[in-house]
Amino acid sequence: MPKKLPKRRSAPDQDKLIVDALRDVGKPLSAYEIIDHLKEKGLSAPPTVYRALNRLIEDGLAHRLESLNAFVACRHPHHKGTAAFAICDGCGLVREFHEAESVRRLDAAAVEAGFTVKEMTIELRGRCKDCEVTVAR
Ligand SMILES: [Zn+2]
Ligand SMILES: [Zn+2]
Repeated sequence: MPKKLPKRRSAPDQDKLIVDALRDVGKPLSAYEIIDHLKEKGLSAPPTVYRALNRLIEDGLAHRLESLNAFVACRHPHHKGTAAFAICDGCGLVREFHEAESVRRLDAAAVEAGFTVKEMTIELRGRCKDCEVTVAR
């Protein structure tokens, strides 16, 4: 009997395709850029891609950059807490880092102001070292 090709990719399979695409590109991608990358691999339905992205974000394998409306692969799997991102406006490079103390202080300041934080986004926009050098020349 000929082996039937699966019509749909399984969820873990979809997730892996997306993470691999984000890692390969190494820069933030919008959902539509992700779809563009994965069309030929059979992943082209936006709701499917959005669901996969939500799973990846929940699992800490990808992050959403609010100011760019784009997604990046997490470089530090298994981290807890809020990550901060430095985003280069020149080349699109994103550096992820963890500033637990700053996050704690922001949280404490919010509590003091009578505010309960449900989500925290820390995004710094500027220029990476390479772009900064290019401008200076
Ligand atoms: Zn991360
Ligand atoms: Zn740059």
